[in-house]
Amino acid sequence: MLAKNLKKLKSELNKIKKTGIKNIINGKEIGATSRKTFENHSPVDGMKIADVASGDARDIDKAAKAAAEAFKTWKNVSHQERKRILHAIADNIEKYAHEIAVCESYDTGQPIRFTKKAAIRGAANFRYFADKVIDAPNGLSTPDTHHVNFTMKQPIGPVGIITPWNAPFMLSTWKIAPALASGCTVVHKPAEFSPLSANILAKAAHEAGLPKGVWNVVHGMGETAGKALTEHDDIKAISFVGETTTGSHIMRQGAPTLKRVHFELGGKNPVFVFDDADMERALDAVVFMKYSLNGERCTSSSRLLLHSKVYKKFVDKLQKRVANIKVGNPLDPATEVGPLIHPSHQEKVLGYAKLAAEEGAKVLVGGNKPKGLDEGCYVNPTLIEGVKTNMRVANEEVFGPFLSVIKIKDEEDAIKIANSVRYGLTAYIWTKDIERAHRIARDVDAGMVWINSQNVRHLPTPFGGVKYSGIGRDGGEYSFEFYMETKNISVAYGTHAIPKLGELK
Ligand code: NAD
Repeated sequence: MLAKNLKKLKSELNKIKKTGIKNIINGKEIGATSRKTFENHSPVDGMKIADVASGDARDIDKAAKAAAEAFKTWKNVSHQERKRILHAIADNIEKYAHEIAVCESYDTGQPIRFTKKAAIRGAANFRYFADKVIDAPNGLSTPDTHHVNFTMKQPIGPVGIITPWNAPFMLSTWKIAPALASGCTVVHKPAEFSPLSANILAKAAHEAGLPKGVWNVVHGMGETAGKALTEHDDIKAISFVGETTTGSHIMRQGAPTLKRVHFELGGKNPVFVFDDADMERALDAVVFMKYSLNGERCTSSSRLLLHSKVYKKFVDKLQKRVANIKVGNPLDPATEVGPLIHPSHQEKVLGYAKLAAEEGAKVLVGGNKPKGLDEGCYVNPTLIEGVKTNMRVANEEVFGPFLSVIKIKDEEDAIKIANSVRYGLTAYIWTKDIERAHRIARDVDAGMVWINSQNVRHLPTPFGGVKYSGIGRDGGEYSFEFYMETKNISVAYGTHAIPKLGELK
């Protein structure tokens, strides 16, 4: 299977190397106006993948104008046709699922066992929102004595979508599918560390019959291309997934043009394990929710709040499991943790292990580079215990395979610790005491809570965070709320009084 993946990757890379990765504007692949490019390297072996167009404000302007022009017709495309095209995009994603998975693994370091699923989930995202196209414009009827009032929903206009490097393919589909279903047109700015899958996706959409200009892609740096997108007057809203500090920049940059924003930002999510929990299931979930996707996962449970009564037993088992996680080439189906996105990120994560020891915590597993994998950005799965709430490793988002264990006395103590960080994305609660589970779910600072479960996504449910983890929700109806405006129309029966001014006697 590894050999098959490597063969597929080789043929894809040969294609990409010839042309480089260009912008896609108005249905055409074109280089940056400046003719500048930047190099994209794989975290697997440091090899150069391709030269990528380095877009700037001029490319964003072209893309925004193309999106504005295409909006005039896309918003009026019949619902049946829009639905058909979105399903056809899903068909193409499924058709190209293998090439998407291998490219995404080589570009991001994410193990193929996860990128394979992400490709299929991308198709499911398109199908889900395709089926909602027909009902999306529906509003309310609120009749009054002399008027019939009714509302309808209309697409907000061309929108900017800015994505991070951790799960680029899946997140792009998650944002772009509802935008298109709403009738919006899109300018997508992918992360500079992981540009590969964005063009495969946009090309698959065009091949499926999406009209030109509806979906544009501009590659480049956040501070140039990304910033210009957030400042462009034709762009009516920005859907952003990334770091909390970048969210603040975007809010500032978008203020003069009154951008509507939706932010999905960082997390430092707690998983509570109480002494009455199903220990085996809790253990599986704790390991999965921190070490899957290389731990580069916004919803990962990076703080284990572990009850003192089961502390030793649970940590012993956890230590064995973490030490046994298979680190290796992400294209190998057996690999559980691959290389991190970039040498700078590898250094950051290793730096946190050093910091934890300096702060007085204990590195139980990992905290170093694996032997024999020197050419890639690998970090051994890391487990830290003895973490106290005042330590930086208890508060800052490490965004790697790095779990901090904190001992808790009781429920009250646990809630206090859980809410002591600035983030509030997800929380996971393991207990058989139903009342306690409900109390914690109510009191924990989080946008999403799972009880006796890992993160299992259900597309109609709201996704998003509180505090520094985000603004707004998406998923199901919530996505349409963001990408559409509600218009009220009031029609008189002809029976109401109209005040008369300047009346001639
Ligand atoms: P990042 O904020 O550095 O970059 C994200 C995107 O923003 C990139 O495309 C980048 O080019 C762009 N960007 C950077 N500066 C910009 C600016 N001034 N204006 C406009 N765009 C700009 O984030 P990252 O390092 O790529 O991703 C990791 C972060 O994403 C983590 O904090 C993680 O928690 C978060 N994340 C959150 C969720 C969620 O749903 N809450 C999901 C995935 C990732």
